[in-house]
Amino acid sequence: MAGARAKIPASKTPAPAKSGAIAMPGRNCSLCPRLQTFREQWRRSEPTWFNAPVPSFGSPDARLLIVGLAPGLQGANRTGRPFTGDYAGVLLYETLARYGFARGSYGAHPDDGLELVDARITNAVRCVPPENKPTGPEIATCRQFLSATIAEMPKLAAIVVLGRIAHDSVLAALGQRPKAAPFGHGASHQLDHAKLFCSYHCSRYNTNTGVLTANMFRRVFARVKADLC
Ligand code: URA
Repeated sequence: MAGARAKIPASKTPAPAKSGAIAMPGRNCSLCPRLQTFREQWRRSEPTWFNAPVPSFGSPDARLLIVGLAPGLQGANRTGRPFTGDYAGVLLYETLARYGFARGSYGAHPDDGLELVDARITNAVRCVPPENKPTGPEIATCRQFLSATIAEMPKLAAIVVLGRIAHDSVLAALGQRPKAAPFGHGASHQLDHAKLFCSYHCSRYNTNTGVLTANMFRRVFARVKADLC
């Protein structure tokens, strides 16, 4: 599927999310009871951790949006910044810096001074799920925040989806079926409001098993960079 391109008919592209839609759940969001219970358990056992829905990182004026799966327990759920403090963030932030989408050095904590450049990072699901696995209904429920996040980016030109769940949720947020722009590492699809770039998730599991190498990941961002220039 690498390099596949599919033009989505304009007629199938929905209007952006309703104006006034909220791009960020409240700190005590109770829309997903299982995630709320999990979060409350971790608030009790680790009161110094963030333990709340994790906000997007980066300006809404960015042209690039990167969509991950959900906060890692000891990563974003602990630190409060997407991909910060866990293994996946090391490759992601190193790659963003390499292609000029981040400035400063990644120090695995939100006060490291790292800035995103023309890029923003969000997650398909904002709360940490048990075993890193959000359920279908949780993904669907949290999509309202993803839709609103996309809608509040007036210059959006490229979306990188990290993994199939992010891919499917972004397409649903845009009113498309997954098959309209199939997922595959390296695949890209021109949608009406942005170009979609697909990548395997930069998780420790994927990199340790060789499903995703640093070079495979870099090639995706090299293409995004070339496209945005
Ligand atoms: N951390 C995140 O914020 N998102 C992911 O998808 C993985 C780790």
